[in-house]
Amino acid sequence: MWWMNEERQMIVAAAKEFAEQEVAPAAKLMEEEEKYPREAIRKLGELGMLGLTIKEEYGGAGADYINYGLMIEEVSKVSHGFGLLAYLASELTLGLIEKMGTPEQVGELIKKGVSGEKLYGICFTEPCGVGNVAEYETNAVLDGDEWVINGGKILITNCGVADTYFVVAKTSEYDPATLRGLTYFVVPADTPGVKFGHIENKMGWHGSSTGQIYFDDVRIPKDAIIGEVDNAWLPLNVALLPMFATYGPMNLGSMEAVWEKTMFFLKNRIQQGVSLWDAHESIRIDMIEMWGKIDNYRSAVYSALEDENRGENISAKSIALKKEGADLLEYVSSKCIELHGGMGTVYETGIERFYRDAKMGTVGCGSNRTLMNNMVGVVF
Ligand SMILES: Cc1cc2nc3c(=O)[nH]c(=O)nc-3n(C[C@H](O)[C@H](O)[C@H](O)COP(=O)(O)OP(=O)(O)OC[C@H]3O[C@@H](n4cnc5c(N)ncnc54)[C@H](O)[C@@H]3O)c2cc1C
Repeated sequence: MWWMNEERQMIVAAAKEFAEQEVAPAAKLMEEEEKYPREAIRKLGELGMLGLTIKEEYGGAGADYINYGLMIEEVSKVSHGFGLLAYLASELTLGLIEKMGTPEQVGELIKKGVSGEKLYGICFTEPCGVGNVAEYETNAVLDGDEWVINGGKILITNCGVADTYFVVAKTSEYDPATLRGLTYFVVPADTPGVKFGHIENKMGWHGSSTGQIYFDDVRIPKDAIIGEVDNAWLPLNVALLPMFATYGPMNLGSMEAVWEKTMFFLKNRIQQGVSLWDAHESIRIDMIEMWGKIDNYRSAVYSALEDENRGENISAKSIALKKEGADLLEYVSSKCIELHGGMGTVYETGIERFYRDAKMGTVGCGSNRTLMNNMVGVVF
């Protein structure tokens, strides 16, 4: 593959070892006990994997999206849900604020996130709908040298486990023409008035702690913001869209793992002295068709990440990759359950979990539909 070189081989080897030793046991507890993999995320930071794309001045490795993609691909072979949390602990929080804030606003936050010492969450979604910002109720009012935040958010990942939340709140009347009126706040979890509500019982992405957060007269310093007052929504969208490319390696790793597991099963499932693979042409066709789709997707993912390395605007590609990848993972994992027969539906076989997680990926962190619609406004 054209994107591989010696340095990247080493990243793959390190991430693969980490996935086997740390992610596999953590993923079991995520699935069976809803246990958040805090320790494994911390160790990923200690290994330098959370800061692969982050500037060196913030403690990162200095930006190569392919290296980062290879790490996410490897951990997602073991767990799609862990891949998501690794993405949230790196690009989606650290990468996002790096792009939006000044060094004074974001420097220390990023350094502590890169090392795995601190964990962050992002709070956009409200009961009115994540994209329906005009009706957001969470607001902040300046009172002397402090902002006072009131309101509530739902469906927040890392709920109750993050040290600090980045919270979108209204600071003036929202103007749909300019997207102005919202500010991005830095709210430590232990600030008086921050309360955590119900943790959702989801079909997949178990252990990712998705829940409600309330802000009840939460007072934070005037300068605890990222970017500019009243002008968070457009920069957030502009910075976020290319980041959905990271869903590419996440989905890719999981579909590769499911396909390989299925190939192993088919070659070793012997009926009347012959493996299912050798016995049935229709099974071989199914597998080869899936292989072709996965291979094309892999090329598209790494070509987009290379474009990002070159500084090109990959927003449109990134959203397409998120949508296509989630749909393809759903298709591949569904088909591979069928190819496993009855045992494919059993948790211990390790296939059906990817199918449930694939569905989560079509909705969570920006639904496929809304993102495609966003492209019309922001990209095209
Ligand atoms: C597991 C999980 C984790 C999450 N983590 C976080 C998090 O950490 N932080 C956070 O802020 N949010 C988080 N979310 C929220 C997530 O981003 C939203 O649920 C998702 O983007 C869909 O938005 P909604 O639920 O508000 O749907 P709604 O706005 O209620 O929409 C319902 C349906 O209509 C479609 N729709 C709505 N508007 C449009 C449009 N303009 N164009 C086309 N279709 C549209 C939607 O795509 C969806 O299919 C999480 C969600 C899940 C499920």
